Amino acid sequence: GLGPYDPQNIFAKILRGEIPCRTVFENTFALAFHDIAPKAPVHVLVIPKGPYVSFADFSTTASDAEIAGFTRAVGHVASLLGLDEAGYRLLSNMGAAAGQEVPHFHVHLFGGAALGPMLH
Ligand code: 5GP
Repeated sequence: GLGPYDPQNIFAKILRGEIPCRTVFENTFALAFHDIAPKAPVHVLVIPKGPYVSFADFSTTASDAEIAGFTRAVGHVASLLGLDEAGYRLLSNMGAAAGQEVPHFHVHLFGGAALGPMLH
């Protein structure tokens, strides 16, 4: 698996303000920022503030308040970006089989163009 949470992962550094990002939205539960290598006209990453390595970790160990707050933040970010009418795609790579690169749970939000059947 991905092992214990590594506080030196790149998204932990972004959360601490040690490296910059292009912030879209931030609240108690979540930070949303533009992906550094966008794979769609809109490609935003939404991450929880807490130290969760993956979706499996987040979904089993985060509090109900964190899960609700994070989930609502994802929807809010899509609305902020004006994507509700045209639609968008959410994706989370979980672990080795999916090729998860950054060991801090994140949801990819893709939009801004007709999306093909698969995008990751
Ligand atoms: P994963 O494969 O873990 O689901 O995707 C990680 C994503 O993080 C990739 O889309 C990659 O482009 C993005 N990423 C990696 N490093 C940085 C960074 O330093 N800043 C930003 N904004 N995105 C990053």
